Amino acid sequence: MAGDMPRLSLIVPAFQEADGLAASLRTIREAARSTELSFQLIVVDDGSTDGTWAALQTLAGEIAELIAIRLSRNFGKEAAICAGLDRAVGEACIVIDADLQHPPRLIPEMVQRWQSEGWDVVEAVKLSRGREPKWQRWMTRGFYRSAAWLTGDNLQDASDFKLLDRRVVDEWRRFGERATFFRGLVAWLGFRRTQVFFEVAPRQAGRSRWSMGTLSALAVRAVTSFSALPLQMVSLLGVATLLLAAVLGAQAIRLWVEGEALPGFTTVILLQLIIGGFLMVSLGIIGTYLARIYDEVKARPRYIVREALTARTAERAPALGRAAEIDEGRL
Ligand code: UDP
Ligand code: MG
Repeated sequence: MAGDMPRLSLIVPAFQEADGLAASLRTIREAARSTELSFQLIVVDDGSTDGTWAALQTLAGEIAELIAIRLSRNFGKEAAICAGLDRAVGEACIVIDADLQHPPRLIPEMVQRWQSEGWDVVEAVKLSRGREPKWQRWMTRGFYRSAAWLTGDNLQDASDFKLLDRRVVDEWRRFGERATFFRGLVAWLGFRRTQVFFEVAPRQAGRSRWSMGTLSALAVRAVTSFSALPLQMVSLLGVATLLLAAVLGAQAIRLWVEGEALPGFTTVILLQLIIGGFLMVSLGIIGTYLARIYDEVKARPRYIVREALTARTAERAPALGRAAEIDEGRL
């Protein structure tokens, strides 16, 4: 391997981050420099429609370690992380948010844990969740509780701020699924994992892009990719309903034999409602998994790269305002 390969890859997903990006990347670069390892700074512009890409084009002149990748549209943070990891060449990769909510000052400590203590995965864990709307805190707590119950893995306070050894990244890249859930899959991979802790700072600029809808979608993805328990619960519900039906049916027959038929009208209505309810919930759960399977079977790429930019190509083609297309293999 060439001696000038960067030893560390920093991966920064960025969506509508034009306002704070320059400051964030400078801070992240400073932190990376203090590790005294050579590094590359891979920023994935996840289809931003504000000035994020323009900011990256400017920054390419200033930050020699910068590699900017622009996705063809917004594919979501999970896909952006995949795009970054696919192009990282470092012996260790660090995934970090673009809004400084993941403190870059932890980078040297994470690197040290990896380098001197030999950990394969160093995870940054939230000590407090920072300022979050109440509904969000309430939802995330509920989500992690049920996820822990369903999948047997406690991801509460886990974040996507992680250092992964090359071996872990290589295994990660073997995952075939289209819809990934970074936090969960890294836990699933195993290896030797350790943790560092941080307080979530308030966002520096811009605003969080998560809405109730995108968060719920991530929650459904997390559960369906790790557990088939909801599907099994459908069968359990079915058995329970059948037992109930047997008891009520026996009672109805007894009443009929004793010549006291007809008062069971309430029961009939109740049964209709209960069974109808169970059926619809069950169909919904099956549908959710079916949709997941349909998505995976299509095996579409996780993301599409529109263009890429490095400090070098920015120099070569400054007037174009758009870097020369770089074939993916070399980045
Ligand atoms: N992000 C992304 N694609 C998206 C949404 C977010 O790449 O569709 C990036 C975003 O730029 C940031 C990180 O993912 O670097 C975390 O996003 P955000 O700060 O909005 O989420 P929160 O901090 O509330 O979890
Ligand atoms: Mg954030």
